[in-house]
Amino acid sequence: MPYKTEIKKLQYKDLFEHLDINTYQIDVPDDMFDGWQQTLDLLSEIAKSPAVLIMRLTPSDISVFTTSNSQGNPYSRHDKEELGNGLYCETVIKSQSELHIPNALKDKEWDHNPDIKLGMIAYCGLPLTWPDKTPFGTICMLDSQEREYSPTYRQLLKQFQNTINANLASLYQHSELQYLNQILNDQVQQRTSELAQLSGKLIEEIENRRVIENSIDYYKSYDALTGLPNRLSFIDLLTKQLNTSLSPITTVMYIGLRNFKSINNSYGYVIGDKLLQNFTQRVKRYLNNDTLFSRVTGAEFIIAQPKEKLIDEMQLVNQIIACTNTPFTLGDFTITVPCFIGIAQAPVDSDDASELIQKAGAALHMSKIDGSQYTFFAQQNNESIEQRYHLESNLVNVLKNRELTIHYQPLFCLKNSKVIGAEALLRWHSPTLGNIPPDQFIKLAESNGQIIEIGNFVLHTAISQAAKWHTMQLENFRIAINISPVQFRNLNFAEHIEELLSLYNLPASALELEITEGILLQDEHCAQHTIKVLQNLGVRVSLDDFGTGYSSLSYLQKYSFDTLKIDRCFITNIENNEQDRELSKAIIAIGKKLGMHVIAEGVETRVQDDFIKFEECDIGQGYLYGKPISAELFESNYLIRID
Ligand code: C2E
Ligand code: CA
Ligand code: CA
Repeated sequence: MPYKTEIKKLQYKDLFEHLDINTYQIDVPDDMFDGWQQTLDLLSEIAKSPAVLIMRLTPSDISVFTTSNSQGNPYSRHDKEELGNGLYCETVIKSQSELHIPNALKDKEWDHNPDIKLGMIAYCGLPLTWPDKTPFGTICMLDSQEREYSPTYRQLLKQFQNTINANLASLYQHSELQYLNQILNDQVQQRTSELAQLSGKLIEEIENRRVIENSIDYYKSYDALTGLPNRLSFIDLLTKQLNTSLSPITTVMYIGLRNFKSINNSYGYVIGDKLLQNFTQRVKRYLNNDTLFSRVTGAEFIIAQPKEKLIDEMQLVNQIIACTNTPFTLGDFTITVPCFIGIAQAPVDSDDASELIQKAGAALHMSKIDGSQYTFFAQQNNESIEQRYHLESNLVNVLKNRELTIHYQPLFCLKNSKVIGAEALLRWHSPTLGNIPPDQFIKLAESNGQIIEIGNFVLHTAISQAAKWHTMQLENFRIAINISPVQFRNLNFAEHIEELLSLYNLPASALELEITEGILLQDEHCAQHTIKVLQNLGVRVSLDDFGTGYSSLSYLQKYSFDTLKIDRCFITNIENNEQDRELSKAIIAIGKKLGMHVIAEGVETRVQDDFIKFEECDIGQGYLYGKPISAELFESNYLIRID
């Protein structure tokens, strides 16, 4: 219990023990004073004593407190005598016992007593005492004549002494109570202020809890990182929008950022989180007030936009694509995370929020599979997804079941018409599904991370194979291996390649790694570094599928590739398409100018072969020179012939 304070019970006994009452300051109330006055008057009358007094001691003197109203009484109230002058009363106080002097004049001890000056020679006095044993003073009778006070009067005096002491005791008690009361009051006040503080703290605590509870409510509905509604509250919002919107046409876009996991792995979660926040901010700029925007999980977002006449949903799709293709600068890093978008529309695809999201998600999967940046939902998407799961479940055990092999396609030197190397191309033969083209299963393996294992298999197999061919005195033989962006993003990739080269004893110059623009787009900083390290080792780096990407030319300026591979689609159209012909010419010329080897892919005809030779392309690759074939066939078809 954080605020439990121990409440001390008042120990009255202890309190009394520690009471510090100054008896000098206790006032005698008027009614008590009047009683004393009557007592003294009575005693004076009965005992025929001209002066009957109650004296009170102060720290410095002794004074007449009450004096009898009798004839011949020389004492008035407040008369004072200093101490130390041998007063009768002072002696009574000191001895705390009765003093009886019949005639001071005859008593050597008393003949200088100050009272003699007032004519008082006979004295009988008793001490008055507070219950704490401190002296109050005396009660005494005085006479101007020699006088032996009889035992009756002395007894009477004693009676009055008792009465007055009893009065003093009650006064003292009253003071004690007052004092205690004061202490109690103080304590109550202290407790009150403690309680006030406590209640302040409690109010604060209640407020804190309320804030926490509110924030828990908030986090139930919103994503803490981006502040966007989460999936559940998005479904609610979309349901409301679909029910209330004047126009029931709504476009739901499911956005997935590509390979976000590996960004987290390479740069850490802090950078990953910042990227998601920056992405959220960028997208928000394009949304209007009616558009719903949510973060569903990790790097997946959904947007729901009610259709207005003027707004074209494609405009928004393109804006999102453009803002993910623009690099994010986060600290020292420049990172690009392209996205895939799946689109479903109400009411065509469904008028239910959850179903729309599910269908947009299915369209997103299709985008990932076929590599297109956005895909509209179509019924066949769902079917393809089922196929994909089927394929994926078969892909899991490919390595264990030894279902993968590598085929080698010759790289043909156009100048001397010799095979100078081979590109390693992966083949999967599934006993149940048959031959699956790499285009289909590599994307799948990339999306589920299996590509690392599979890529390693390719590297080991192709490098060991190339090392074997290299020892067959094929000194200039080069092996080209395709590298997936997922493999390339591993910060230790270059180190791994170095290890493999020394493991199989293949010179670095015999290895060419083919990468696509996707690698550069996703992570310029890391890619640039890895390319540098690989080239320093002596490994060649080739830019594959050139011309199909986003901003190919600018990459040629930024990175120093060793080889440029013109994509098959240009070569295929050389014969019929003027524009592609011109483009191919330009690409070859630029490549040469930048000091790169240029390879033309997909050469199938003599016309294409003539064209690339004329344009002084270095290497040709295509069915015209040779299809991808097994290592054994490749060895017997080409290598022996070269010898
Ligand atoms: P790519 O790197 O562009 O490989 C060339 C593709 O073009 C190969 O298809 C090859 O068989 C095909 N090809 C070659 N000459 C011709 C031709 O004259 N006409 C036609 N129509 N096609 C030709 P393949 O083997 O189906 O590979 C497809 C893609 O799969 C490759 O494209 C590459 O991107 C990927 N891939 C293949 N093996 C691997 C691998 O080991 N790792 C990675 N990451 N990707 C691979
Ligand atoms: Ca390739
Ligand atoms: Ca290619």
